[in-house]
Amino acid sequence: MKLSELIEGQSAVIVRVAGHGGFRKRIMEMGFVRGQQVRSVLNSPLKDPVKYSVMGYDVSLRRAEAAMIEVLPTEEANRLHLETVSTFGCDTSCEQCTIASCARKQAKTMRRNEINVALVGNPNSGKTSLFNALSGSSEHVGNYSGVTVEAKWGRFNYRGYRINITDLPGTYSLAAYTPEEVYVREHLFEKMPDVILNAVVASNLERNLYLTTELIDLNQRTVVALNMYDELEASGAKFDYDQFGAMIGIPIIPTIAKSGYGLEQLLDTIIELFEGRSKVARHVHINYGALLEEEIRRLSEAIRTSEQAPRQFPIRYWAAKLIEGDAQVATILSRCNDYDKWKELAQESAAKVQRRLNNDVETLISDYKYGFIAGALEETLSEGGVDINRRSRRIDRLVANKWLGFPIFILLVWLMFYTTFAIGAYPQGWIESGFGALGEWLWRIMPDGALRDLVVNGIVGGVGSVAVFLPNILILYLFISLMEDSGYMARAAFIMDRLMHRMGLHGKSFIPLIMGFGCNVPAIMATRTIESRTSRLITILVTPFMSCSARLPVYILLAGAFFPNRAATVLIGLYLLGILVAFATARLLRATKFKKDETPFVMELPPYRWPTFRATVRHMWDKCSQYIRKIGTTILLATVVIWFFSYYPRPEVTEISATVEQCAEVSVQQTVEVGDTHSNSYMARIGKFIEPVMRPLGLDWRAAMALVTSIPAKELVVSTMAVLYGGDDSGSLSESIVARSGMTPSSALAFMIFILLFFPCLATLSAVRSESGSRGWMWFTILYNTAVAWLLAWLAYLVF
Ligand code: GDP
Ligand code: MG
Repeated sequence: MKLSELIEGQSAVIVRVAGHGGFRKRIMEMGFVRGQQVRSVLNSPLKDPVKYSVMGYDVSLRRAEAAMIEVLPTEEANRLHLETVSTFGCDTSCEQCTIASCARKQAKTMRRNEINVALVGNPNSGKTSLFNALSGSSEHVGNYSGVTVEAKWGRFNYRGYRINITDLPGTYSLAAYTPEEVYVREHLFEKMPDVILNAVVASNLERNLYLTTELIDLNQRTVVALNMYDELEASGAKFDYDQFGAMIGIPIIPTIAKSGYGLEQLLDTIIELFEGRSKVARHVHINYGALLEEEIRRLSEAIRTSEQAPRQFPIRYWAAKLIEGDAQVATILSRCNDYDKWKELAQESAAKVQRRLNNDVETLISDYKYGFIAGALEETLSEGGVDINRRSRRIDRLVANKWLGFPIFILLVWLMFYTTFAIGAYPQGWIESGFGALGEWLWRIMPDGALRDLVVNGIVGGVGSVAVFLPNILILYLFISLMEDSGYMARAAFIMDRLMHRMGLHGKSFIPLIMGFGCNVPAIMATRTIESRTSRLITILVTPFMSCSARLPVYILLAGAFFPNRAATVLIGLYLLGILVAFATARLLRATKFKKDETPFVMELPPYRWPTFRATVRHMWDKCSQYIRKIGTTILLATVVIWFFSYYPRPEVTEISATVEQCAEVSVQQTVEVGDTHSNSYMARIGKFIEPVMRPLGLDWRAAMALVTSIPAKELVVSTMAVLYGGDDSGSLSESIVARSGMTPSSALAFMIFILLFFPCLATLSAVRSESGSRGWMWFTILYNTAVAWLLAWLAYLVF
C-alpha cells in the first residue's frame, strides 16, 4: 500500500520509494529508506501535509509525496514473519531480534524483494529477444519493426529477487505523437517501474541513443543494454562503453540477446540500481542553450511552488515539455490548480524562443540532444571499416528489385501455401485415420446409448475434425516465423505497400490477409505488426472474408455435387469473391469511419539476420499450443453443445443406425435418425425458427441448421450435413445431398456464398474482440458480415 494511505497511528515498513532521482534522493535523506519503520502521526483526510515519524524524528510530507512511497503495514509484516518462523523454523538471530526489525528483514528479503523493470527501446532493437532470454518466456520475436504493439509481462527469480519485466512497444522517442510513444510514457508515469532497461542497437548508436537522452531527462534508474554487440564487433568498430556510460550517467552493458551474452551482468546491474549501489548512475543535465534553459528555469520555479505537481518525473521535465507543447504532459498537468498560469508562461516562452532563435522549441531540443550524443560518441567511438549493412543491401537489390521483387514474393507465398497444404496433407491424413480408428474402437467397446453417441460423434468426431489442421498450422507458422525473423517480411510489406494502399489498407496488411486463407484467428493476431491503428483495425475487420481452410470442405462437397463439371471454377470464384468483398469493405471503412490515417511512418527495412533455431521452434510451439488449447476448450465445448442440441429430445420412434462416409471429414460412425425424426431435435427447431429468413435464398430448415452449427467452427458444417442428408450407406454423401437436400445448383451456390461471407467462427470473433479492443467491433462483424452474406447469396440465387 501507499504511505499516504496509512491511517493515523498505524505503522509500516518501507518497501520502496518511487519517483525521479532528485525526489528520491531528498526523501531518502529524510530517512525514508527501504526497510525502515515509519508511523503515521497525524493524517486527517483532506489535510495536507501529513506527519510521519521515522528514525525517531517527526517529518511532514505532502500527500502527493507520500503516495510515491510503498509500504507494508507492520501487522502484515509480522504475520509474514510468523509464517516464516513456523515454516522455516527460527534462525539464531530471531530470538534476540525485535519483531519490528525482523519484519524489516522480511520486507527486504521476502516477497517484497520485487523489482519492476520496464523494457524500452527502438523497434527492432532486440527488446523481445532480451525479454525472452531473461524471462524464459516465449513472446514472439520478429525482425519486423513493431511486432510488439502491446506490452508483454513476464517474471522470474534472480539472486533472491523477483524481477517483473514488461516488454513495451518500440519507440524512437518519448514524444506524444504515436500511440506507442504515448503508451510507453504513460506506463513509466503510471506504473513507476523501479528500473528502466533501455535496449540500444550497438551498430546503430546515434539514432538509438536519442531515446536514451529522453530517458536521461526523466531521471529514473536506467541501464542500457548495448544489444547486438556481436554486430558492433563484426563491423570492426571500437566503442568505449564504460566511458560513455560514465559520461551520460547510465551504466552500459554489452549484450547479445540471441546467445545470452552479458545477461547476467545486466541483471546484476539492475539489482545494483535498485539497491542504490551503482557507481555509474547519476543525473546528467543535457543543456538546451542559454535562452531555452532560462525559460525552463522560470517555468520550473512556478511549477515547483505547487503542491500538486506530480513527482514521477522531474519538475524540469514537466517545464520543458510544457514549453515544447507536449499534449500528454499538458493533460497530466492540467489536473493541477495552477495549470492555466503555467500554460500561459509556457506559451510566452515558446513564442519568445521562436522569435529570438527563429526555430521552434521541439527542433531546438532535439538538435541539442543529437549534439549531446554526437559529442559523447566523438570521444568514445571509432567506426570500423566494415559495413555490416552491405550484405543486406546486396540481398535487397535482388529481393526488393522493381522487376524481380514481385515474382520472388509470389513464388515464396506460393511455396508457403503449397507446402502447407500439400506436405501437410500427409500428417493430416494420419491424424484423421487416428481419430477415425479411435472413434470406431470406442463405438465397439462402449455400450449403446447417449454416452457412446456423445463420446464418438460429439467429442471424438468434432475434436478430430479440427485437430487435423494442426500440421498445416505448424508448417504455415514455420514459414511465417522464418520470414519474419530473417527480415524478409518487412520487404514483403514494402513490395505490397502501393497496391494495399489503393485498397485502403497498408503494406503490412498483406501478410495477415494471406494468412487468413489458412485460419482467420492467427491472421487477426498477426495484424499486431501494423503500426497504424486505423489500418490495423480495418485489416482485422476484413480478414474474416478471407476464406479459411475450414470452409474449403464445404465448397468441395457442394461444388462437387452440384457443379461436377465446373467445380474448380466455382472454388476459385468463391475465393475471389471473398477477396473482393474484403477490399470493398476496406474501402468502405476508409471512406466512412476511418477517413484519416495516422501520421505516416517510415517503413523500416531492418538488416537481414539469421533466424535462430530456438526462436523459430518456440514460435511454432507457441502457435501449436494455442491451437491445441482452442481445441481443448472452445471446440470441445461447442461440439458437446451441438451434439446435445441435435441429439435431444429423443424421438419416440426407434432409431436406425447407419454409417456415413463423410467426404472431406473424419469418418465416424454416426447415429442417424432418418426422415422426420430430425425435426424433433432442438437444433432442428432452431433451424425451423430461422427458416423464413433463409427461404429467399432457396434454403430450407436443414441448411439453416447447418449454418447454425457452423458458428463454433466452420469445420462442423460438413459433419452436420452428413448427419442430415446422409442416411443409408448406399452412395456417396454428395449423391445423397443432390437427391435429398432439395437444393438446386443456385441455392447450393447461395449456401456456399453464405458460408464464405457470414460471420466467422467463435474463435475468430473472440480474436476480433480482443485485438480490436472492443466488443463493438465484434458486433459490427457479426451484423455486417451476416448482412453482406445474405445479400450476396440472395443475389446469386436470383441471378444464377
Ligand atoms: P524488438 O522489436 O525490439 O522486440 O526486437 P526483436 O527482439 O524482435 O529482435 C529483432 C531482430 O534482432 C530479431 O531478428 C532477433 O533475432 C535479432 N537480434 C536480437 N538480439 C540480437 C543480438 O544480440 N545479435 C544479433 N545479431 N541479432 C539479434
Ligand atoms: Mg518486440
